[in-house]
Amino acid sequence: MTPAARGNAVAALPGDCLAELAAIAGHENVILETRALALASSDLIDWPWQRPALAVVKPRSTEETARLARAAGLYGIPLIARGAGLSYSGGGVPGGAAIIVDTTNLATIDIHADDRHAQVGAGTSWEALAQALAPHGLKPAQPMPISGVHTTVGGAASQGMPGGLDGIIGLAVVLADGTVARTGSGARRHGSAFQRYWGPDLTGVFLGDCGAYGIKTEISLRLVPVRPLRFASFSCPDGATGLGLMTRLLQAGLAVRVVANGPGNGPGADAPWTVHVTMEGATEDAADCVLAAVRADRGQQATEIDADVPRRLHARPFSIRGFVGLEGERWLPVHGVLPLSQAPSCLAALQRLLADHAAELDTHGIRYTWTLSSTGPYITIEPMFYWNDALTPLHLYYLSDRHRERFSGRHDAAEARALVRRVRDDLRLAMDAHDAVHAQLGRYFPYRSALEDGAGQLAARIKRALDPDGRMHPGTLQA
Ligand SMILES: Cc1cc2nc3c(=O)[nH]c(=O)nc-3n(C[C@H](O)[C@H](O)[C@H](O)COP(=O)(O)OP(=O)(O)OC[C@H]3O[C@@H](n4cnc5c(N)ncnc54)[C@H](O)[C@@H]3O)c2cc1C
Repeated sequence: MTPAARGNAVAALPGDCLAELAAIAGHENVILETRALALASSDLIDWPWQRPALAVVKPRSTEETARLARAAGLYGIPLIARGAGLSYSGGGVPGGAAIIVDTTNLATIDIHADDRHAQVGAGTSWEALAQALAPHGLKPAQPMPISGVHTTVGGAASQGMPGGLDGIIGLAVVLADGTVARTGSGARRHGSAFQRYWGPDLTGVFLGDCGAYGIKTEISLRLVPVRPLRFASFSCPDGATGLGLMTRLLQAGLAVRVVANGPGNGPGADAPWTVHVTMEGATEDAADCVLAAVRADRGQQATEIDADVPRRLHARPFSIRGFVGLEGERWLPVHGVLPLSQAPSCLAALQRLLADHAAELDTHGIRYTWTLSSTGPYITIEPMFYWNDALTPLHLYYLSDRHRERFSGRHDAAEARALVRRVRDDLRLAMDAHDAVHAQLGRYFPYRSALEDGAGQLAARIKRALDPDGRMHPGTLQA
């Protein structure tokens, strides 16, 4: 039996392993309570294969994480790293016996303002980082997720983001056998972590791996100055017009962020689409020039409206209120990241597909809306479903007290949920037929099955070399 197979046969943590974990991370950082284990082993979707972890351990340093990996290795127990757990592709959810490595104690922030980089613990939240950088007039070059009020730098570095992870310039990663591997210029003896490119780009190997290649404990980030911004919003008669406007602005490099919102089915289905543009300039005058260029390029069918939405998004960049609907409905998005040229036909295909399902969706009270977004030369298309259903323990954990009281006690709607999953799978297939790639692959989006032969062999060899016994995030990146 391989150690990984042995690990999956473990039903409870052996006593001597438990003692070792406590000796490494401290008793208070080894959690065994049943409900806490179930909570820390779930994400926003209930997966039929999910199992509660054997333990949650919260190491306080890279060194402790390495010792933890070595200790778990002796017992053949798999490890799964976790930030805020706010993803929804199953990468952080055990399907068998495993220890969850909760990274939230790894939260140091070390800013090198003059050299424009920072080193942070993998469990640092994006909001904590943004707050620490604000007095320096700096921000991460890496676009930050809206969920960053809770979600971690290590979570995004592992999940991937639709616009890429070019703002990450180095890592410390704990491999399955406890080796600590640094990447980028910080990998040199006594070298500072100011530069990603020095020899082969080993940082890139671990970015977007959903944890399958190792546990990130420290992350180096490029910093950039906060620059003058401008905002503009437009109303468009339909999705194709909104998408056309987005595409022109992105091709011309005029926008640093564009978001479009479109109505789906149900009440308000004939409302216009809205496109919200954020622009940046090196100076106030330069920012005004970019705004003027965007207005000139808006096209005849787009009407300028108040730019309240992008202004508010900038003023309050982090929130997870949207992880349930306004009345506490379950929320489930599915996204595809598309080349600009493919986005229009993909959007049209997805609209047709949802129109074909209209009657079924209506019968089960399932609503959907559209969000399109981009920070570069690509378009993320993200239909979002809403329906009345019981919330998961993870939802209840993150809801405010007021909303928890309002929204708990919903009835289980297994049929509606199953329909959403089925339609979601169809949308994913339609996106892939239009050349889509995905962030947050986890255990849901295809990776291995989509690779051509040579690339598939390379991915398999890397995994075998770094994790020969398959103890890091079993099942992740395998679809
Ligand atoms: C309301 C809402 C808004 C969102 N907005 C955005 C957005 O704007 N952009 C976006 O891209 N996503 C967004 N997301 C999705 C999600 O929140 C992000 O992908 C986020 O980066 C996940 O971070 P996390 O700390 O919760 O990671 P987790 O969910 O804890 O982990 C994600 C994956 O990475 C692995 N992992 C976590 N930490 C490590 C580590 N240190 N080392 C190795 N592997 C690790 C986990 O095992 C898992 O496979 C949003 C989600 C919600 C609910």
